Amino acid sequence: METIVSLVECREYNYEVVKNSIIKSLENLGGLDKFIKKGETVLLKLNLIMRKSPDSAATTHPIFTKALAEVLIENGINVVIGDSPGGPYNERMLRLVYKGCGIEEAAQQVGAKLNYNTNTFEIKNEDGLILKNITAIEVLNEVDKVISVSKLKTHGMMTFTGAVKNMFGIVPGIEKAEYHYRFKQYESFSNALVDICVAVKPVLSFMDGIVGMEGDGPTAGTPKEVGAVIASESPYHLDVAATSIIGLKPSKVPTIQRSIERGLCKGNFDDIELKGDDIETFTMNDFFVPEARSIDIFDGRVPKFLKGILNNLFEPKPVFKYKKCIGCSDCAKSCPPKVIDMVEKRPVVNLDGCIRCFCCHELCPAEAVHIHRPLLMKFLSKL
Ligand code: SF4
Ligand code: SF4
Repeated sequence: METIVSLVECREYNYEVVKNSIIKSLENLGGLDKFIKKGETVLLKLNLIMRKSPDSAATTHPIFTKALAEVLIENGINVVIGDSPGGPYNERMLRLVYKGCGIEEAAQQVGAKLNYNTNTFEIKNEDGLILKNITAIEVLNEVDKVISVSKLKTHGMMTFTGAVKNMFGIVPGIEKAEYHYRFKQYESFSNALVDICVAVKPVLSFMDGIVGMEGDGPTAGTPKEVGAVIASESPYHLDVAATSIIGLKPSKVPTIQRSIERGLCKGNFDDIELKGDDIETFTMNDFFVPEARSIDIFDGRVPKFLKGILNNLFEPKPVFKYKKCIGCSDCAKSCPPKVIDMVEKRPVVNLDGCIRCFCCHELCPAEAVHIHRPLLMKFLSKL
């Protein structure tokens, strides 16, 4: 059976153009009422990873959010907008992020509600492979349905962050760091991400691919026009189409690998029906995709004591650029194994305990954490 993925060309954050693209996307998917009924309440789960200007392409654009919210409201649907950004999950942080990302204004303009409930609850996830219980933000309990509204971005650690990984934001604040600590290997971490997506079951997934982010995403990459509004009822199939557009082989993305293993998608176009504009309209061969990260090439091949030394030599590692660092200590606070010490307002990392989660890179407000990739790893990742 094929799953529809809608592709609609949209090359500017012009409100009417974006809104029409969203309306066309919903038509391509068979109409809004196939997924959400009048009177229901839906959570738009944005990607609001941190307080960043919309121009940085790190977060779902406010024009995209406003247009989607308005289309839903015009159809009699109640809209709540939310996410759990990195850092502490409290009302103050949410206010800062909503305002800084332009979402507060967008919500006010169309009468959508912003979530300020910072309570949490437990989801029983019978279908989960490794996560049978998930601590989640309580707003999920207050809505009837969830729509994933992700941003098209490459990711320094997971290669790509799309519709599936967007659901990780339902894990409250700094609890996300615990997942990195529990699931240090990319296979288990991506399995956890798929488990979360399976538990939340978004009824629709939209991707803001008008301007995406290439390179060291999710926060420190470079904005790049892609010109696409991508939508599907399946976040798994959406990610396959989106990665194909940016010239990234779906089979290289950990979350897509796990989705294929679980039969959630095939990882190619054999089970996708494309609707809307021709995929060739968007396909790019110059989108900069970061190299694959932690390939633990020494596991089981060398004695344990040597593995640590070799990993430190050959694995990618965080490097702090002191000229850019503002000494805020966010990296130290967000480091799951607590291996960053602030010494005279400068972060100093003990790489022996570093699990290469790159939370420090992701959450640094000054783009002062660089991911250094040794040449050997660059070579191996191309094999
Ligand atoms: S988060 Fe960035 S700016 Fe803040 S201390 Fe760490 S490296 Fe410096
Ligand atoms: S130093 Fe950075 S990459 Fe290493 S464990 Fe801490 S947050 Fe993760």
